[in-house]
Amino acid sequence: MTIYRGTVLDTPESPFDGAGLRAEADAGIAVEHGVVVDRGPFAKVRAARPEDDVIDRRGGVLLPGLVDTHVHFPQVRVIGGLGKPLLEWLDGCALPEEARMADVEYAAEVADEFVDGLASAGTTTALVFGAHFAPAVDVLFERSAARGLRITAGLVVSDRVLRADLATTPEQAHADGLALAGRWHGKERLRYAVTPRFSLSTTPALLEACAALLDDVDGALFTSHVNENRAEIAAVADLFPDHDHYVDTYHRFGLVKRHSVLAHNVHPSDAELEVFAATGASVAHCPSSNSALGSGLFPLRRHVERGVRVALGTDVGAGTSFSLLREGLQAYFMQALLGEDGLPLTPAHMLYLATRAGADALGLGDEVGDLSVGRQFDAVWVAPDPGTTLAHVLGHAADADDALAKVFALAASSDVREVWVGGDRVR
Ligand SMILES: [Zn+2]
Repeated sequence: MTIYRGTVLDTPESPFDGAGLRAEADAGIAVEHGVVVDRGPFAKVRAARPEDDVIDRRGGVLLPGLVDTHVHFPQVRVIGGLGKPLLEWLDGCALPEEARMADVEYAAEVADEFVDGLASAGTTTALVFGAHFAPAVDVLFERSAARGLRITAGLVVSDRVLRADLATTPEQAHADGLALAGRWHGKERLRYAVTPRFSLSTTPALLEACAALLDDVDGALFTSHVNENRAEIAAVADLFPDHDHYVDTYHRFGLVKRHSVLAHNVHPSDAELEVFAATGASVAHCPSSNSALGSGLFPLRRHVERGVRVALGTDVGAGTSFSLLREGLQAYFMQALLGEDGLPLTPAHMLYLATRAGADALGLGDEVGDLSVGRQFDAVWVAPDPGTTLAHVLGHAADADDALAKVFALAASSDVREVWVGGDRVR
């Protein structure tokens, strides 16, 4: 048994329902076999376990492991491809790199960079868009398992519109997905996600094959994109004239369920929000990507008021880093820019969106998302070097909420000193 000592901040209850930040200045967290078994003031936890090892992490803050609900493994090397809206960015920037994943040695190098990027940013759990090539997805799962991260991922499938070397067929997509899930789903900390790229690049027959795969793999998740960009939305409406709206192109096939995650939803109709609310499916809000591609200002207030689940995603490589701390700050900026239509975010909201909300979206709420007794010890120690601006301002924080605001404003991956997943150190 090990006792971790430090300033612990987490959000077991939703600030959107009025809860505040849970903060303990000198806390002890006792961990056995990777699970939190006791928590409270350090002196009390220590007194009950005088023989246990103590890992002293005072200075800085201990946060729950960060949860990224939307990130693309093949796009690490295209981060920073600025200057284009979505469809031009896909053609000119992202898809040529996605095509390079056909070379499994290239994919293996990128997979190493990808899992390192996640762990370095303090991301312990992620829902990951894999590659269009099954061997590249095998490599992603292999490297994720070796690093010990909690990863849900799948083969990305497409059978129209995109470049031909990324295309599959409904039969092939089902067979490849079933084989990959057989090799990885439920192994270590890995799970499978059925992943059509988006309705724009998938025929109804391929979406039917995705629904069959979702039925065939018990506990698999579903993920895709929706309502990101107005030109994309118009193109989808042309391709699916009999469907009510973009969300319906997935919902009609039975793909929108409690643990489905659709990225973006920047331009939803009220009817689409109703589908999310009724099914319990989640939206992955990716604010730096929405900003970089000029996709729009996410209507968080409309989602929250209708009871739609929202969590954060980095959307690397349209997103500009692996850091969910930066995404939290960018979400705050965008809500501020929306003025009266925005939903002002507190530091507790930002932490909740980056941790607890993501765990709930991915069906891992009983295991991770906060540092309560019974959860896995997935945690991040953010501790700046002495003399840095973050160290100066943290030293003058008025209270725990203020300290957390300063972490969101200033912390870089270099301030993420230590990261644990299930009690295993991954950084
Ligand atoms: Zn994306």
